Amino acid sequence: MASMMSTAGRDTAISAIEEYFDNGTFREDLARRVAIRTESPEPDKRPELYRYLEEELTPYLSDFGFDCVIHENPRPDGGPFLVATRTEDPSLPTVMTYGHGDVVRGYDDQWQEGLSPWNMTEENGRWYGRGTADNKAQHTINLAAIKAVLEQRGHLGFNVVALIETGEECGSPGLKEFCAQNKDLFKADVFIASDGPRLRPEQPTIFMGSRGVFNFTMTLELRGGGHHSGNWGGLLANPGIIMAHALATITDARGKLLIEEWRPQPMTNSVRLAISKLKIDGGENSPDIDEDWGEPGLTSEEKVFGSNTFEVRSFVTGNPRNPVNAIPPKAVAHGHIRYVAGTDPMTFLPSLRKHLDAQGFNQIELEAERDYMNATRLDPDHPWAQFSIKSIEKTTDQEVAVLPNLGGTLPNDVFAEVLELPTIWVPHSYAGCSQHAPNEHVLPEICRQGLQMMTGLWWDLGSGDTPKS
Ligand SMILES: [Zn+2]
Repeated sequence: MASMMSTAGRDTAISAIEEYFDNGTFREDLARRVAIRTESPEPDKRPELYRYLEEELTPYLSDFGFDCVIHENPRPDGGPFLVATRTEDPSLPTVMTYGHGDVVRGYDDQWQEGLSPWNMTEENGRWYGRGTADNKAQHTINLAAIKAVLEQRGHLGFNVVALIETGEECGSPGLKEFCAQNKDLFKADVFIASDGPRLRPEQPTIFMGSRGVFNFTMTLELRGGGHHSGNWGGLLANPGIIMAHALATITDARGKLLIEEWRPQPMTNSVRLAISKLKIDGGENSPDIDEDWGEPGLTSEEKVFGSNTFEVRSFVTGNPRNPVNAIPPKAVAHGHIRYVAGTDPMTFLPSLRKHLDAQGFNQIELEAERDYMNATRLDPDHPWAQFSIKSIEKTTDQEVAVLPNLGGTLPNDVFAEVLELPTIWVPHSYAGCSQHAPNEHVLPEICRQGLQMMTGLWWDLGSGDTPKS
């Protein structure tokens, strides 16, 4: 009888969240949040970061029993944090959730005719606005679903600590320090949050970690200024040509990594099995995959979820805006590695140094850029992963795509390594959402299903039958 009642309650909570979407309230909440210009890469938008936390999220969360405290960032270049806690009973399980209120720059003048980053607009069944996908719809969904469970059940059956940061789009400065200094605040049994894309727009997805990212600069400065090529060509070494040759030793002409130490550990069987069930589909407007690019012998899914990749992000010599007939003095390339768990990022530059020196490129200087985010992964068989998969399948009646890690990068190392939590991500966007570019949007049907899934998941978390940690 008890379990029948709880199923009825679950269904009613899900109906209530459908109503929240269908009557336009979700859209209103999201549009109001999108309208706050929280562009963290713009220093003069700092007050907007505070406004998002103080005037938008704090009243919203306080209304259903959260204690909201805004904390300063331990780093001067970092934005504020909101820590919102709702404790029912310390003996109940505690979930930590996370979101980021900041967005990348709006690039207002580059959006399609009729669209603006700050005024959420529906067109062709999509909701356009900066931060819709990344990350405002995602945390709006998760918080609204908590509220729906509370309203239906009268209590949650679990405790929550929510961390909303405002610097993710700048590499989350200070997040690691803040969490390390406040471990007591974030004591939890599991971490469940949302960001990033689903594997395919129509398939519910979870991932349990992310690849890491490591950015670095390669600089070759041979002399103080340019010299006329008619007088000096053939006499002075050209740094652009040397840099091109150096880059060509890092991968072959089809992108295969040639530095042995940069290659990943072989995939474990459970990871290989999980990846074998995946099929990449970015949805409409996604680019065609170049099948003959990257690591030979791997499937497309293994390349993104189970391997390491190197990219040249930019490469400049001379002045591309005003090419002159001269030998440029300098060449600079910005490199970038995405890597899976099990690869040690501290070895990237030393092994590149050794590799370049062995090929005679010892004049090229190497420098790491900003903090790296480490790669993390949770085994797909972990009890919390299984719990979440079952709950989502119960709600949607669909098979969940299970990614051992996201191909992209999130500050998940802070939660998985500093706070030592099992980490579950339930993304509510899709790969074609144009996050970080003009025309960012969400698909309303994913948002609606995300609301249903999260309501079911929070409901189940409070039902007393959770994995023991
Ligand atoms: Zn982002």
